[in-house]
Amino acid sequence: MRRGGWELHSSKNGTYLLTPSGKRVNASTRGRLTILDDAGPERAFALQMGRVMSTSVEDIVALHHRVGHASWRRMMNMCRAGATAGVDSIENMSAADLREAEARVTSCEACLCGKQPRKALGRRGLDKGTTPGEVLHMDTFYVTLRDEATNRKYTQYCLIATDGFTKYRWIAPSPSMKGIQDEIIDVMRKSNTLTGRKPRLIIADLGSEFDNKKVIDYCRSKGIEYQASPPRAKELNGVAEKSVDVTKNHVRAMLHAAGVPEQLGWVRAALHHIFLWNRTYINSATGKTPYESATKREPSIMNVGVFGCDAFLHKDRSQRDTTFSPKAEPCVYLGHDSRTNSPVVYMMHTGPNGWSW
Ligand SMILES: [Zn+2]
Repeated sequence: MRRGGWELHSSKNGTYLLTPSGKRVNASTRGRLTILDDAGPERAFALQMGRVMSTSVEDIVALHHRVGHASWRRMMNMCRAGATAGVDSIENMSAADLREAEARVTSCEACLCGKQPRKALGRRGLDKGTTPGEVLHMDTFYVTLRDEATNRKYTQYCLIATDGFTKYRWIAPSPSMKGIQDEIIDVMRKSNTLTGRKPRLIIADLGSEFDNKKVIDYCRSKGIEYQASPPRAKELNGVAEKSVDVTKNHVRAMLHAAGVPEQLGWVRAALHHIFLWNRTYINSATGKTPYESATKREPSIMNVGVFGCDAFLHKDRSQRDTTFSPKAEPCVYLGHDSRTNSPVVYMMHTGPNGWSW
């Protein structure tokens, strides 16, 4: 707001705000809050500027939950960059409050249970490309789950693709390893649609049991170079390996915090994490979110809630049985789906039937 010509004055005679047109708005201080006493149109203007201001440690902790347990560093980057609507500005926070908030966030119980510190991966010599859509890094991971009815373990799969330049990510969970081949080709098509160019290079670490003939044939037919990184040579595929780690950690933290069963929730939490990642991660190379680099539009998380929170789903008149049927039904909010760009809910009376992968 300072850049827009606003001034905040505070002395022992009182606190007031000067608008760009020179109008004086009196303010009072209550605790650590400064409140505009006489804010009419000025308050509307502050809202128009689209920035929610964090004013307390609690605000920052709430933001941490809302952005799916992002790390402190990533949170500070997203708050300072102001590149996402709905992410609080921390301009008004005192250094002491920020320190307290940092202590709260870095000791978040769900994060401590869900994540585990690891050393940074070497990035030297890694081909990241110089334009959006040029180089895509791919990796798969297993998810081991336990069937509660039979107590047997079973495995599901997931592909994560990262644009080397923008850090835009796609995620494709799949009940079978076979499905992953089609998902890889699908990501290449989606990246093409998003960026208007076909990839020059695909770097993939897909594991030894993965039959990638279909993918290699596709790349050959499109003139895309395919580079398979040797299994377990993490440093050769740092971008993708890191994305797997970050995603698994966030899924673990979100499931733990929400108390959502993992068989039910891991796909939703993973899709939600990627939704938030693309809209809040500040890429050091571009200074922008992946979403903005790819679409040239400012992303928003205004409508994002805390994963696993209670919600009510409004029912349209046509969906109601009788005149006095409830207008809303209780449900659990299971994040936003990064593929369909929409919120997902678990209805209490129907359960997860009809969910798609
Ligand atoms: Zn956390």
